[in-house]
Amino acid sequence: MVRTLDGTELSRVMRAEMAQDVAALQAAGVTPGLSVVLVGNNPASQAYVASKTRACEALGMRGQTLNLPEDVSKDELFAVIDRLNQDPTVHGILVQLPLPAHLPYKAVLEHIRPEKDVDGFHPLNAGLAFVGDPRAFVPCTPAGIMEMLRRENVPTRGKHVVIVGRSLIVSKPLASLLMAPGPDATVTLTHRHTPDLATYTRQADILIVAVGKQNLITADMVKPGVVVIDVGQNRVPDTSSDRGYRMVGDVDYDAVRQVASAITPVPGGVGPMTITMLLANTIQAARQTHAKQA
Ligand code: NAP
Repeated sequence: MVRTLDGTELSRVMRAEMAQDVAALQAAGVTPGLSVVLVGNNPASQAYVASKTRACEALGMRGQTLNLPEDVSKDELFAVIDRLNQDPTVHGILVQLPLPAHLPYKAVLEHIRPEKDVDGFHPLNAGLAFVGDPRAFVPCTPAGIMEMLRRENVPTRGKHVVIVGRSLIVSKPLASLLMAPGPDATVTLTHRHTPDLATYTRQADILIVAVGKQNLITADMVKPGVVVIDVGQNRVPDTSSDRGYRMVGDVDYDAVRQVASAITPVPGGVGPMTITMLLANTIQAARQTHAKQA
């Protein structure tokens, strides 16, 4: 019987635990605060940002969105980040990606103080995470996948994990987390130039797909009993939905479900875990700041 790895339910449990952490910090005089900077009017980004700040408020945290116009200059954006860097009530800063092309996104991300970089995209945090330093903010999607595997008792030690995709946001940090002592997986990363992708995916005990292409992984590309984590988020037209579209992952869900032992749905799998880990990182940032001041 295939298991559905339900990120919505796991997130509900984790957020209830985290509400107690927030209450404890508040009792010590600290309300964890996240500020999200949104440039422009991309509807998908607006929806992501709204769900992040709503999730903060539901836990009793401060969630603030700063909307900047599409044509904001680099200097103006840096000035906003400088202000947030200095603000003691702001523990986490997130600049929603993608940014308009005229803004140098790497320089923007590096402008956030590493102690407030709750997305974990600053090179200092990437390096700390790579060497396994507990002070690192680990990017939220890989952190959420690790938490899901742990809480769902999916063993990783000695398992072959194949990751499709090599992005800095998801796949590379995830590979480093999985191969570290503790999880102890053997990891293969694949990408656009990997010849005959199925040769690799069929070897996977755990297959993680983070590409952004509907139906990239079909049932003939996996071995029986595989655990499948589908990170992809693709909008497909759907006239039966009020929004006119629905979200699907990168995996042919109905067919692969027949072969797998466990699989994440889209939506309701990795997505909610990502937001939950953003809340966790913001609480960690508030706790670290408070510990330094105490
Ligand atoms: P990305 O930076 O665009 O990376 C995509 C990766 O897929 C690249 O490494 C690319 O290879 C690889 N790729 C493209 N076509 C391929 C193919 N035919 N075979 C094998 N590999 C291929 O994307 P990302 O930021 O990692 O995001 C990936 C997907 O996850 C997107 O759908 C995104 O929306 C979703 N996502 C979801 C969450 C969530 O919370 N659920 C969070 C983040 C991202 P090259 O490097 O060779 O180009």
